[in-house]
Amino acid sequence: PGAMDTLITDGLTAGYGAADVLQGLRIRVGQGELVALLGANGAGKSTFLRTLAGLVQPTAGRIIMNDASIHGLPPHRIVEHGLALVPEGRQVFPDLTVAQNIELGAYRRKDRPGPEELETILRRFPRLRDRLHSPAGLLSGGEQQMMAIARGLMAKPKLLLLDEPSLGLAPAMTEELYAILAELRDDGMTILLVDQMATLALAVADRGYVLEQGRVVAEGSADELRADKALIDAYLGGD
Ligand code: ATP
Repeated sequence: PGAMDTLITDGLTAGYGAADVLQGLRIRVGQGELVALLGANGAGKSTFLRTLAGLVQPTAGRIIMNDASIHGLPPHRIVEHGLALVPEGRQVFPDLTVAQNIELGAYRRKDRPGPEELETILRRFPRLRDRLHSPAGLLSGGEQQMMAIARGLMAKPKLLLLDEPSLGLAPAMTEELYAILAELRDDGMTILLVDQMATLALAVADRGYVLEQGRVVAEGSADELRADKALIDAYLGGD
């Protein structure tokens, strides 16, 4: 692995029982990159993220984060290596305020976040600033997703994993959200974005991978993948 690689998996195999869902994945996320992981329902995208986070046990292969093996470590140790997973569904605590929900993201940290950290994050999420002291349950779906990402950022991750943040959002809201992801990347954050909506994800990503039945069937720059009409039609529902 090179110094500029935040994450490398090689030959990564994992699953839930007898059958492996992931069939030997070789995936790389360079430092400061926004990488899209695409593929239809059931292709194994969530399983890949959950394996990285230590929630699913790998059965073979390597997982290297910043030159250290995180393969087989328990989830809390992986968090200490700087990996933050924002899972599918938003895991909102509806009765807590937006600020309280965001601050929960820091609970694993050894240091306490200063007020300027929330401020820095809110600069990217102006919609949340206006609603900081409202119950999170009153937010729209898109705002709740923004809040979940802001919570992930409070962990000060080196790699942010986002599992289908566009789920259930209108296209305009997804575009707004993904523009923010591009800004976070421009700020230096490293992001792995799982999505079924290839077009919107590839509009902001640097590179992408397409999964099908637990295998990488295509990879390349976002521009290359976007231009491959046959690929989009075959694996990505032509959206
Ligand atoms: P989705 O967008 O639906 O989450 P995905 O690409 O993320 O799709 P996964 O959720 O990783 O796909 O699912 C890959 C395969 O693993 C599917 O065949 C699914 O049925 C199976 N699977 C997922 N979670 C479990 C589980 N907890 N136990 C057993 N099998 C599972």
